[in-house]
Amino acid sequence: MSAKEKPGWLIIAGLGPGDDRMVTPEVTEALSQATDIVGYIPYVARVAPRDGLTLHPSDNRVELDRARAALEMAAAGHKVVVVSSGDPGVFAMASAVFEALEGRPDWQALDIRVLPGITAMLAAAAAAGAPLGHDFCCINLSDNLKPWEVIDTRLRHAARADFAMAFYNPRSASRPEGFVKALQTLRQECGPDRLVTFARAVSTPDQRLITVTLAEATPEMADMRTVVIVGNSATRRVGRFVYSPRSAG
Ligand code: SAH
Repeated sequence: MSAKEKPGWLIIAGLGPGDDRMVTPEVTEALSQATDIVGYIPYVARVAPRDGLTLHPSDNRVELDRARAALEMAAAGHKVVVVSSGDPGVFAMASAVFEALEGRPDWQALDIRVLPGITAMLAAAAAAGAPLGHDFCCINLSDNLKPWEVIDTRLRHAARADFAMAFYNPRSASRPEGFVKALQTLRQECGPDRLVTFARAVSTPDQRLITVTLAEATPEMADMRTVVIVGNSATRRVGRFVYSPRSAG
């Protein structure tokens, strides 16, 4: 069917870390033109209801089903926005949508766009100072989709390469032991004096920021609303800020 008969589209949009002022104007525009919003319950709840807009909140564990449902609607002529927190390409829905496109040339022909958002580590780094000011990497500590051995290997290699590191999904009630192991690995590789920032609920009224050394860090400092930033060997404090000098390494 031609695009003229079926002018549906699918946008995968990032809502930023929490503060409405961190939603980009192009995302706001897409939300205002949408007929359907698809996403994890708390993210869909951030979109104001209005006439002509149907909200489709769903549980987080069914990302591929959610992506397929969104594509079905776009193929049927709906204007669909799939929402993620932060950036949709960072441990979020954009990959799920592209995975759903595999083997579906009909869906591949749809009008699909990804709109970036401010990801948690960038909002957290800005709140702390500039701990990601030199080379850094970003690791998802959830072992839902990969074995812990992979995570441990990546942690060790990143530490040995002296990257600053940002960790997403550091610790949940269902897997409290992973972050205990991560801290042990980091202490082995980076020593006790390395700075680590726990940034919780950044840009929301619950925001809490604390910077300690690895020796002082405890697993309870992180939860699922926390992004953890471990500095490189040159990361230091200046006044109340933490930064990594441009010349590190
Ligand atoms: N797509 C999102 C990340 C989804 S994974 C993004 O780009 O930000 C979910 C993880 O993101 C959480 O476990 C936490 O580690 C981090 N996160 C999301 N929002 C956050 C916030 N406001 N403050 C701190 N961490 C946050």
